Amino acid sequence: MSTGENRRVGQVKEITSLTNPIVKDIRALAMKKFRDQQNAFMAEGLKLVIDALDLGWTIRTLVFGKSQRGNQAVEKVAARAVAAGALVLEVSEKVLGAITRRDNPQMVLGVFEQRWTTLKQIRPADGDLWVALDRVRDPGNLGTILRTVDAVGAKGVILVGDTTDPFSVETVRATMGSVFAVPVAKAGVDAFLAWRKTTDARFIGTHLKGSVDYRTVDYARGAVVLVMGNEQQGLPDALADACDALIRIPQAGRADSLNLAVATGVALYEMRRHALPSVGREEQ
Ligand code: SAM
Repeated sequence: MSTGENRRVGQVKEITSLTNPIVKDIRALAMKKFRDQQNAFMAEGLKLVIDALDLGWTIRTLVFGKSQRGNQAVEKVAARAVAAGALVLEVSEKVLGAITRRDNPQMVLGVFEQRWTTLKQIRPADGDLWVALDRVRDPGNLGTILRTVDAVGAKGVILVGDTTDPFSVETVRATMGSVFAVPVAKAGVDAFLAWRKTTDARFIGTHLKGSVDYRTVDYARGAVVLVMGNEQQGLPDALADACDALIRIPQAGRADSLNLAVATGVALYEMRRHALPSVGREEQ
């Protein structure tokens, strides 16, 4: 341990050196290979860390900036993390900047265990809505979709094929905390198509050549899996053919298509229209 690093009351470890091995390990979580090896990921910001703890996610390490010493909310989270058996680190701003790779880093971050749902665990019941994403590539799109799925009260997301990582720093940032609220499963195309046969849910694909206007379907009946295509290539035939219907969102201008996250949001709001309270009636 380098100079300036010591333990305070045996619970909070102070770190000021960028070469500290714990700091190096947390920095390495920027790489998918290391996240997979460690089965861990990083979430930045006090709100996200509190959300995660409230939702029962396992925290391994809590990191906070020295300037936060005495901040009641941070001290409270630190006490929760200690009680959960996590390592708690008080670090210099330089170390925080290095960990988050930002000039103006968040003052609190947590390292959490990854949590995945399996296809086997997903048994859509009447009224449930799941979203299946074919080879989603863009972390911002995936994060935005997780946030929207959370907002509309859909049940979760199934990542089909080779996709971007829901636990990357960029995706987690874009979810604004919804990564902790939305179950995520991953599956190859064959496993997804096999699972399709085990459920009564209707599979509704979105396609630029879809023959059904997305506003004309009754989504309130039974369970639904909304299937979205890849950003560049759209839905491949194997997935499109497995859908009960292919819906299209009409467009008027010159754009070829909508952005994947926007199309998912538009479809989800229509699909959940019957289930969402009217504004002004949320509390009733
Ligand atoms: N070049 C791709 C194609 O030919 O399908 C464009 C893919 S688009 C950027 C990504 C996904 O968003 C599509 O596969 C589809 O699932 C959905 N999408 C985008 N615009 C849509 C629309 N107007 N109607 C239905 N789905 C749409």
